[in-house]
Amino acid sequence: MTYDTLELSEVFQCKKCGNCCKGYGGTFIAAEDITAISNYIKADPRNFVTDYCQMSGGKPILRQGGNGYCLFWNGLCLIHPVKPRMCREWPFIKAVMVDIDNWSEMASVCPGINNDIPISPLKECLGKVMSKQSDR
Ligand code: SF4
Ligand code: SF4
Repeated sequence: MTYDTLELSEVFQCKKCGNCCKGYGGTFIAAEDITAISNYIKADPRNFVTDYCQMSGGKPILRQGGNGYCLFWNGLCLIHPVKPRMCREWPFIKAVMVDIDNWSEMASVCPGINNDIPISPLKECLGKVMSKQSDR
């Protein structure tokens, strides 16, 4: 394998194991997520935070059930088409990519992350992803 043209699919391919839907400090949701998820599950958006969220640092995050998993995890993501941005972009989240130690920590619990890529091309690839994200 050459790393001259490292594709994101070589770095990460989700195995749909659900590990990232459990714990890890929660999934922050934005106002547009509340609208989209409420429409999808046919819930009243005015009650969404009360019914499906808990607060963290003054912001709503998706609530976890007694098993530690997100309320919307049941063997698969029940709101996959409208899941929050953080879930859609995982693991390509700036806080994870910016520090290779964070990336390695996530890689130790995410079987979708390829652990065989040497640090130099990995850093270069993640740097390109962050650069593209900052252009948005
Ligand atoms: S932990 Fe990784 S492989 Fe498992 S569902 Fe989450 S992103 Fe996919
Ligand atoms: S919204 Fe879906 S992908 Fe995101 S944490 Fe909940 S179950 Fe997982």
